[in-house]
Order: sequence, then C-alpha cells, then structure tokens
Amino acid sequence: MLQYSVNEWESHGLNRYGQEKRKWYFQCPNCLQIQSVEQMLKEGYPPDLAYSYCMNCHYEAKKGTFGKGKIVQVNQSNKIEVFDFA
Ligand SMILES: [Zn+2]
Repeated sequence: MLQYSVNEWESHGLNRYGQEKRKWYFQCPNCLQIQSVEQMLKEGYPPDLAYSYCMNCHYEAKKGTFGKGKIVQVNQSNKIEVFDFA
C-alpha cells in the first residue's frame, strides 16, 4: 500500500479535486460507496471522517482497508490508514 506524508497526500487531493475540500471524494473499501466531504458535513459528521469512516456501512479505516487505501504518516511515530480517493 502506498504511504505518504500528510503534505504529499494533500497535494494528491489538490491535483485531483482542487482547492475546495468539500469536493474531495473518498471510497469505502468495504462497501465501495463513494462519499464527499460535503456529504459528510451535510449529515452532521466532522469533515475528516470522509476518509476514515463510511456513512453507508459504518466501516472505519483504522480497521484496515484491505490494501485499497493509503497510509498517511502523520508524524514520526504515528501513521494512519485512510480510504483512497475515489
Ligand atoms: Zn462502506
């Protein structure tokens, strides 16, 4: 699975979807639903759940993404697994 720093991961998102993070899309590896940050906000979830929690099947990225997600190195000692861009 590909691993990125936070900055690298963000620049992939920016290249793909642009500056407006509400328009960023992520895919759940469990049920394959695609959700945007905007949809998360509309449903009352914090925006960062868009890449770590599926609204549809309630799957959490921290349980693992079956090789379909990405690893983001948050800092020296902390990496998180996240849903991939859709
Ligand atoms: Zn799901």
